[in-house]
Amino acid sequence: MTRYISTRGAAPPIGFLEAVLAGLAPDGGLYSPEVWPTFTTEEIAAFAGQPYAQVAAAVLSKFAGSDIEPRVLREMCDEAYSTFSHKAVTPLSQIGDNLFLLELFHGPTLAFKDVAMQLLGRLYEHALKSKQRTLTIICATSGDTGGAAVEAFRGRANVRIVALFPEGRISEVQRRFMTTASDANVRCLSIQGSFDDCQNIVKAAFSDESFRTGVDLSGVNSINWARIAAQAVYYFTAAVALGAPGRPVAFCTPTGNFGDAFAGFAAKQMGLPIARIIAATNSNDIVARAFEEGRYSRGAVTHTQSPAMDIQIASNFERLYFETVRREGVETARTFAAFAETGAVTLPPGALAAMRATFSGASVDEAETARTILSVLNETRSLIDPHTAVGVAAARRASLPDPTTPLVVLSTAHPAKFPEAVLAASGRSPVAPASSGDLAVKPERFDRLPADAETVKAYVRAFAGA
Ligand SMILES: *Cc1c(COP(=O)(O)O)cnc(C)c1O
Repeated sequence: MTRYISTRGAAPPIGFLEAVLAGLAPDGGLYSPEVWPTFTTEEIAAFAGQPYAQVAAAVLSKFAGSDIEPRVLREMCDEAYSTFSHKAVTPLSQIGDNLFLLELFHGPTLAFKDVAMQLLGRLYEHALKSKQRTLTIICATSGDTGGAAVEAFRGRANVRIVALFPEGRISEVQRRFMTTASDANVRCLSIQGSFDDCQNIVKAAFSDESFRTGVDLSGVNSINWARIAAQAVYYFTAAVALGAPGRPVAFCTPTGNFGDAFAGFAAKQMGLPIARIIAATNSNDIVARAFEEGRYSRGAVTHTQSPAMDIQIASNFERLYFETVRREGVETARTFAAFAETGAVTLPPGALAAMRATFSGASVDEAETARTILSVLNETRSLIDPHTAVGVAAARRASLPDPTTPLVVLSTAHPAKFPEAVLAASGRSPVAPASSGDLAVKPERFDRLPADAETVKAYVRAFAGA
């Protein structure tokens, strides 16, 4: 039985599907596996050449344990990844000596969030099929999660979804992926505030017990364990394609909420030889500073060309903290309560050393991001999006102990999702793939609300008929 415990140590252990449906733990912590599942070297080697969905089913089954029958899980993975427009699902391309892009943007909403969300929609449907309950998913988005979640959950039975986005701070394409869904189980909210405000409203909703049970609340933000589990998969497929487990591979992951970077840590815990994970931030550099200075302290959010990373509270960082303080729930609860109150905590020396054994941080400013989009175009004749550019810039700065180690930059969005920034940096307009269809002309549907938890809760209650 694979069970999940809270990083804050005060919630009872639960099974995989329960943890997925819950999202956040009732003690305010994040669910993590009670024991990390592992693969042997031979099992990892056998992933070479397997279809993506097969590797996904193998990785997910380690986390799901007996909660889902292997045949059903494989079907879910087959279906989820058939929505991607590339045969390899997440193909690699080479952009320099030992430097690769892992293209995670071939899903329906053109960003890596689809990789996990397409699976999550099917996991929810499976878990709720035999139950007489309708869950309400509430989801704060810095731009891409909302679209991916709406696309994955719209029209599904036994679930409704409310997506909160910061008004005026996401691109038009990002907004339209959410607001053009006409399904009755979808609501979109334009919140007059920042992404952190949206995220705080969601946290307030979760910590209100009567609200939570009243609307049967669930969360699919990057704190949801299934997101991490599904994202660990492409670290395996990429590393194996480049010679793992026979040789170690390094990754550079554009980072906001630290979910994608933590998925790399999860893959490493499971036995994948990852030499290093570089967490690349834009000028919202809380994570990069944490690794460099040993202090996790939030600043003011600044708006950048890579808005999905305009975040000063990297929720999944708590999971790494928990691991590096030897899974002390009480210590983790104390630290993140202090962080919520004061906005800054100092990392214990032992925890910092353990973090630095895998992670380093790099922050990339706006000018360097734009220069990188242009230089990659000049060198490879391909356009990259601004989030990917942050990753490429950080990767080019990196000096790995062994320079022959392949370095893989996670390419987290299609350039057509951020056309203004890409055009400004490169003079070229990225072309959206045909799969994104008539997005630009479909009517939009959303409501505007102030950044106030009570107002949002009242709105959600009314929608849920609670
Ligand atoms: C969400 C997102 C990120 C950041 O991912 P985290 O898991 O929050 O660190 C990076 N790039 C793009 C395009 C995104 O949508």
